Amino acid sequence: MNNIHPDFERIVSRKTKEKKLGQSSKVFWFTGLSGSGKSTIAEHFEKKLFSEGYFTQVLDGDNIRSGINSDLGFNMEDRQENIRRISEIGKLYLNNGVISLVSFISPTIAAREKAKSIIGADDFVEVFINTPLEICENRDVKGLYKKARAGEIRNFSGISSPYEAPENPAIEIITTSQSVAECVDKLFNFAQPLIKY
Ligand code: ADP
Repeated sequence: MNNIHPDFERIVSRKTKEKKLGQSSKVFWFTGLSGSGKSTIAEHFEKKLFSEGYFTQVLDGDNIRSGINSDLGFNMEDRQENIRRISEIGKLYLNNGVISLVSFISPTIAAREKAKSIIGADDFVEVFINTPLEICENRDVKGLYKKARAGEIRNFSGISSPYEAPENPAIEIITTSQSVAECVDKLFNFAQPLIKY
């Protein structure tokens, strides 16, 4: 570390980039069980933001795990490293004035606290996609619950590994009583004052 000299001062500032993009950057951090609707809502939310003139980036669990984090598994240590790297990537986008939508199970309060501390409390917006386990398991979008119940997947959040719901999320989205479009509208209305330049 002794020979590393980070320099964040001489590069074009976040404020200047935000001004150019006409927005305030934030990291929307989606948390919820597998199948709760994180990716679906993030994807539609991004389209909505983009069509309204915002500049955005989705960081999705599976995509990141198949690329930059392909060396990581699902034990607690690897999950922590997964979150740390994602948070650092989110922060890079943040400092580029880009609004990022981060969609990971991120199952523990401690992990999300870590993410918040890396990103900064003012810019970390916790979005809880609150869908009960039974519903997620019924949906079983990727067939993972079936495999987890059969013991074919270990450390599966909600089944064989804990999922700790946020105690005080910035916003909570209930997918069981609202359509995807309604969830996205709710999120967009909430987000607008935060991302306004
Ligand atoms: P996750 O990214 O949390 O693992 P996905 O977005 O992959 O979850 O899957 C959620 C599933 O639930 C999708 O098949 C989606 O169509 C369905 N679904 C039903 N209602 C909603 C809703 N209101 N919001 C989001 N997803 C919903």
